[in-house]
Amino acid sequence: MGDKRRPGKAARRGVVRAEVISVGTELLLGQIVDTNAAYLAQELSRLGIHVYRRTTVGDNPTRIRQALREALRRAEVVILTGGLGPTQDDVTAQAVADALGRGLRLHGASAEHVREVVRRRGLTPLECHLKQAMIPQGARAVPNPVGTAPGFLLREGDRLVAALPGPPGEMRATAAGVFASLRRRAGAGVIHSRVLKFAGIGESWLEERLADLVASQTNPTIAFLAGPGEVHVRVTASAPSLGQANRLLAGVCREIVGRAEEHLFGEDEDTLESVVGRLLKEQNRTLAVAESCTGGLIGERITRVPGSSVYFVGGVVSYSNALKERLLGVRKSLLRRHGAVSAEVARAMAAGVVEATGSDLGVAVTGIAGPSGGTRAKPVGLTYTALAGPDGVRCEEHRLGGTRTDIQYRASQAALDMIRTELTKHRP
Ligand code: ATP
Repeated sequence: MGDKRRPGKAARRGVVRAEVISVGTELLLGQIVDTNAAYLAQELSRLGIHVYRRTTVGDNPTRIRQALREALRRAEVVILTGGLGPTQDDVTAQAVADALGRGLRLHGASAEHVREVVRRRGLTPLECHLKQAMIPQGARAVPNPVGTAPGFLLREGDRLVAALPGPPGEMRATAAGVFASLRRRAGAGVIHSRVLKFAGIGESWLEERLADLVASQTNPTIAFLAGPGEVHVRVTASAPSLGQANRLLAGVCREIVGRAEEHLFGEDEDTLESVVGRLLKEQNRTLAVAESCTGGLIGERITRVPGSSVYFVGGVVSYSNALKERLLGVRKSLLRRHGAVSAEVARAMAAGVVEATGSDLGVAVTGIAGPSGGTRAKPVGLTYTALAGPDGVRCEEHRLGGTRTDIQYRASQAALDMIRTELTKHRP
């Protein structure tokens, strides 16, 4: 194979090229989504290693062998995930060994680890369990602190091959063990990104505001990612060190934020619900929800955040007029005059949930999620979001698009962003 591995243009420029091979028939059948490859691609670019290709193969030794041999002709680093388990269809270690003309050996410390984990589960270690401790000759085992099968890392000429277990938690834990070796190999610098997250605006609005920055971008680069009810801007810098990349990012991010500050809700791992939670906690305030068209989604999203019971007192999911009257104190006359989907009723629901629960803030949503139930005057997607607090009650009207699920999610975004905006006003 050596003659076929002449360095290409990229290698001559000092770029380290990587390929990821995901092994698993369930991936090919679409029964699970390949989150491992996405994770590895992101982490490798942080190390300054460029992922040039991703391949998916089933649990088939011949195709794993072929995929690995082909990848090794093109890339300096090849990472496989999946197929390291104890069952018959877990064939990755054997296929890697065969592709490289090596045998398999039992790795003593890994075998001991496998025995221990199996015993801890109340089982007797069997031959098939120990199969997980078989790694190719010359490979280094990468300990798997959260599962049984270790990963492994080997050098093949000037190439590096790593194999990691399939379960995402185990893959991440073992990947950490190979990144140190890859960092040494990369040496060429890092590619680092920051993601700025905006709500309450559309992608085109933001693109227009940033048009000149996008037109002149070189390093860092700017990319837009639109999701339901929010827009992300990923800013990516390439630099010799993380510190230098961060400095490049800071300048561009400051400029972007300055153009749309009122709509920026967070960065990287932040979500609207986590940001709202953080602000409520900081300001020592409590929140209750009254939901009609979102069916509890706002409450569910707020309580996804660990520790939310400190600030979330609870909520009312009220679809019938009777419940709106009884639990939220919405007047019958209001419902009759304006209908359940109206600004007046949304305001009354928000004020009512504050009254009923004693919370500092109350948010309410009423709307038509569809697909049926719309009229010319009140079409599908019409929603009213109201927020009640010490300064009174505010209400917004939105005309949301998409399926029933999209409309419900967008309505929950609008409600969470309304809370965020209110709390940001009060920030010291
Ligand atoms: P096990 O010991 O569980 O058999 P393994 O290394 O053999 O581990 P697989 O059998 O290939 O891994 O996969 C186990 C499970 O891990 C899959 O059923 C799937 O839920 C998850 N998984 C595997 N590969 C991926 C992937 N690329 N992305 C996301 N999840 C994955």
